[in-house]
Parts: sequence; C-alpha cells; structure tokens
Amino acid sequence: MDLFTKIQGHEQVVFCNDPNTGLKAIIAIHNTALGPALGGCRMRPYPTMDAALEDVLRLSKGMTYKCAAADVDFGGGKSVIIGDPLSDKSPDLFRAFGQFVDSLRGRFYTGTDMGTTPEDFVHAMKETRCIVGVPEEYGGSGDSSVPTALGVIYGIMAVNKAVFGSDSLSGHSYGIQGLGKVGFKVAEMLLEAGADLFVTDIDERAVFTLLEKARGSKGSIKPVALDDIYAVPADVFVPCALGGVLNDSTIDLLQVKAVAGSANNQLFEERHGDVLKNKGILYAPDYIVNAGGLIQVADELYGHNKQRVLTKTKAIYASLLEIFTQSESLNICTAKAADLFCEKRIEAQRNRSSFFTHGKQPKWEVRV
Ligand code: NAD
Repeated sequence: MDLFTKIQGHEQVVFCNDPNTGLKAIIAIHNTALGPALGGCRMRPYPTMDAALEDVLRLSKGMTYKCAAADVDFGGGKSVIIGDPLSDKSPDLFRAFGQFVDSLRGRFYTGTDMGTTPEDFVHAMKETRCIVGVPEEYGGSGDSSVPTALGVIYGIMAVNKAVFGSDSLSGHSYGIQGLGKVGFKVAEMLLEAGADLFVTDIDERAVFTLLEKARGSKGSIKPVALDDIYAVPADVFVPCALGGVLNDSTIDLLQVKAVAGSANNQLFEERHGDVLKNKGILYAPDYIVNAGGLIQVADELYGHNKQRVLTKTKAIYASLLEIFTQSESLNICTAKAADLFCEKRIEAQRNRSSFFTHGKQPKWEVRV
C-alpha cells in the first residue's frame, strides 16, 4: 500500500534515524485539534518497519480519543523505538530521541510506555521539555496507578448507578482479574466500602498479600482459579490484567450485570461491544475508565496539582453516565457511544478554533 494511503487520517509521521546511537524510531501525530499530541514511547524489537508503523498509527489514533474523553487539552500521538529494551538501550539513544521530539517544537509530548521506563526519559528530558511522567525527584507526578485505580472506582460507581439505581459500592460483589498496581488498590477501596470480592492473579503472592491486608475489613474475599473468574456469581467484572479478555468464549461465561476495569483493549474485537449489549451486560469502555493515569501526566504541564487531578478523574463518572444514556437512546453499544462522545468534543473544538476566521482571512496567510 502507498505510504500516504497508510497514514491517511494522521497529521504527521516522523521517521527518526540516528546512526551514531542506533536510534530508529517513528513518531505519529494523529490529531491536534484539542492541543499538542500526547502519547507514550513504546520500545519493541518489531520484526519489520511495517509492523512498527502499524502499531504507532493505531496507538496514536487511540490517544486522540483517550485525550478527548479525559478532557486534557491534548491531542493524540505516540512513538515507537525499534529495538530490544533489554539490550539496545543507552542514555545517548534516549538523548537522540529527545532531540527528535524537540525538533517538533511542542507539537508532541511523550513519556514511558511498554518497554521504556521513567528513568529512560530522564536522559531524553536533557534535550527537550516535551517529556512527561519522569520520576518524582525530576519533577514528575509520581505513581500513575493511584489516579487510575480511583478512576476505576468512579467507573464502578457509574455502572452501579445505571444498573442498580444507586452508585453505592457496598452491598455488591465484584470479580477482580489481576491484583497488580491498579487492581490491588481497587480491591482495597472496595473492601473498605464493605464489598464482597472474588479475586484472581497469576501471582499468588498478590492474593495472599490482599488476604493479609484485608483482615478485619468490612468486606469479604474469595480467591478463585485464573479461568474461574469469568463465571463467578458477581455483580460487576473488574478486568485489571490483560487485554482481549472480553471475547466469544468468556462473554458466554459471564454472570455479571456490568464490566468496569482498567485493562487496555478489553474487547477482543469491536463487535464484542455488541455481543455484551445483546447479553444485557453494561460495558464501561476501557479508555474512559482507565484515564486517571493519563489525566495525571497531562496535568504536569500546568505544574502538578493533586486536587485538579482528582477533580478531572471524578468526571469519569459523569462522562460514563452520558455515554450510557447516549448508547440507550441511539440503540448502539457503549463502545460506539464512547467514540461518538469523543468525536463530538474534537469537532466542537475544531469549530471553535476557526471561529475568528469564518468569512475572514485564512489563519495561515502571511502578512508582511
Ligand atoms: P501490573 O502489571 O502492575 O498488574 C497486572 C496484574 O495482572 C499482575 O499482578 C499480574 O500478575 C496479573 N495478571 C497477568 N496475567 C493475568 C491473568 N491471566 N489472570 C489474572 N491475573 C493476571 O499492571 P497495572 O499497572 O496494574 O495495569 C493493569 C492493567 O491496566 C493493564 O492492562 C494496563 O495496561 C492497564 N492500565 C494501567 C494504567 C496504570 O496507570 N498503571 C493506566 C491505564 C491502563
């Protein structure tokens, strides 16, 4: 396929090549209607340049929607470094990457993603100010799983409100898949509220630690085997581990009334949004629910403020209720309603940007 056909829909794609450090990277800017593009930098030994390009194009488009949903005044972008994170990293490679980011003069902000760490970007930030999510001692905002977990709690409150008529967390049962950085915190907050939990994790130590910590709490915990989490008699399924967990075989097993969790790309295929709807299960779209971490790193641009992050994360609740109402009135699944919700925000801003140019000189005209 012609390269321009492939990148149609994206504003700009930059190929970065630095033979001195071995850096081979691609930066994709999908849409900057809401602000400069924001998106992490993934490092993987992609088998081909095409595979890397496909990944960065898909991920940067996703970021446009995620930023619009989180209302963070950023557009969508992403970058990938082609290389093995275990053997190909060096401080100079990340400084070279920082120089390429800087050459975009504020159109693209980046930070850590799969295969890269906040420490890698301490090197990149020597070359550019367009870096977010560095360690706290370098001015970063700290562990993003804290606001992400809080966002999941607001997501659960929204599904409870829509399904049971009250957003109370107590008096319900939850099936939590994955007790990592996010899932563990969600479990603690639910137990604190007096909820009953079914939990599972491939790492049994996480389950034991939760059992220890939860002694004397108001709620209860029942550990289950990995594959049994789908069929537990809970009210809400809370996926906080892997993507693709909502598929033909698992949806058949679900007994819950709703799904709300942090895992990225929960729907195996787009059509599984409709499959859940047809089964009468309310799905809280993943990229709306898990936006807390993004809200926190985006906030670094204003000088990190915990209260502001909390207020924006709380808004996940209202956004979801609007998406659920829209899904019902248009008779479409919630995943499609979420996309429409974001497209409406982007369109509104696009119109606002051109407000002063209607019927006047185009903005780009150079006057001497
Ligand atoms: P994590 O790696 O800390 O935790 C994942 C947990 O899932 C681990 O404890 C792991 O042992 C467990 N796990 C893996 N496979 C499993 C399986 N088959 N069954 C049960 N448990 C399994 O990751 P995290 O930061 O807690 O993130 C969890 C999910 O949320 C991921 O999909 C991540 O992409 C997404 N997410 C995280 C953030 C964030 O701020 N950390 C933000 C947005 C989205």
